[in-house]
Amino acid sequence: MMKAVRFHGQKDIRLENIEIPKCGKGQVKVKPAYVGICGTDLHEYEEGANIIPTTPHPITKEKAPLTLGHEFSGIIEEVGDDVTDVKIGQRVSVQPIIYDGTCGACRDGLINCCDNNGFIGLSGWGGGLSEHVVVPRSAIYEIPDSVSMELGALVEPLSVAWHSINISPFKKGDAVLVLGGGPIGLAVIQCLRARGAEKIIASEVSPGRREFAKRLGAHYTLDPTTDDVVARVRELCGGVGADVAFDAAGVQVGLDQALKAIRAQGTLVNIAVWNKPAQLQMNDLVFREKKYVGVTTFVQGDFRQVLDAIASGALKPGPMITGKIQMDEIVEKGFKPLVEEKDKHVKILVEVSPC
Ligand SMILES: [Zn+2]
Repeated sequence: MMKAVRFHGQKDIRLENIEIPKCGKGQVKVKPAYVGICGTDLHEYEEGANIIPTTPHPITKEKAPLTLGHEFSGIIEEVGDDVTDVKIGQRVSVQPIIYDGTCGACRDGLINCCDNNGFIGLSGWGGGLSEHVVVPRSAIYEIPDSVSMELGALVEPLSVAWHSINISPFKKGDAVLVLGGGPIGLAVIQCLRARGAEKIIASEVSPGRREFAKRLGAHYTLDPTTDDVVARVRELCGGVGADVAFDAAGVQVGLDQALKAIRAQGTLVNIAVWNKPAQLQMNDLVFREKKYVGVTTFVQGDFRQVLDAIASGALKPGPMITGKIQMDEIVEKGFKPLVEEKDKHVKILVEVSPC
């Protein structure tokens, strides 16, 4: 048997003893080392199952209770018979997307847009918050020797940010506005800095998170409750506005400001998951030829690019880690501070089998 943190329902997460999964063909068994707690985990905990299936998931055929943890690093401890290109003892980061491989999006290589998509650690196939997890060979990416296992657990959220930049028209030297200083907004700032943004302007309500934004690479921070975001961004960008804006906040007032704060033919990239419908002022798009683009998670290859960028020193995401806890502290020292002390925390890692 092994320990696992499992989601049963709203405000009901339990540390339990469950069967150790068996490693089959095409699979590897990983011993999770560090596991990040994600905003999605918090949302499921606070509001009840939304992404986590309560009827069998079309691919995994599993439903709650399910093991949590989709941002993690670990060590390979067993490989399936036919897996010959990875070794026991290898340090890896797990890319958690579950996809069917057969729908139109998957056939186009867009596994992140799969009609049936899910995530290891949310939709079945176990999760990082357990002593052992079995994942497809295709889900693992080797962590370079120079990159710590802690940073290996940040590759997933950083890949969300990295992918959003890949999808956007961003180019080196651009001026960029980032809305929201939560983990994803901060990851976007860090990735933009690594990729040569000339001006990064972050708009965030919380003073603590504005400080994190500066530490992770923002050149300017704005408080949308007191600053005139549109006027300030235009002023900081030579009167024309930002080349690209990234919305990692998902609130109507921010959307309105960002659409106005980008230059003519500028692009607003939405990463945020919205809780309710929003309004788009279409004439802001029409009369200034602006673009609005949605992005979600990452595709094959983004993990590799992020790991290489950390190894080269271009990405320095260490300050995102604001706490380390144990599996049995997940609610008291993990979820609760992330909800109640947003100002102080970005990413809390659970040490499952630290190494
Ligand atoms: Zn698909």
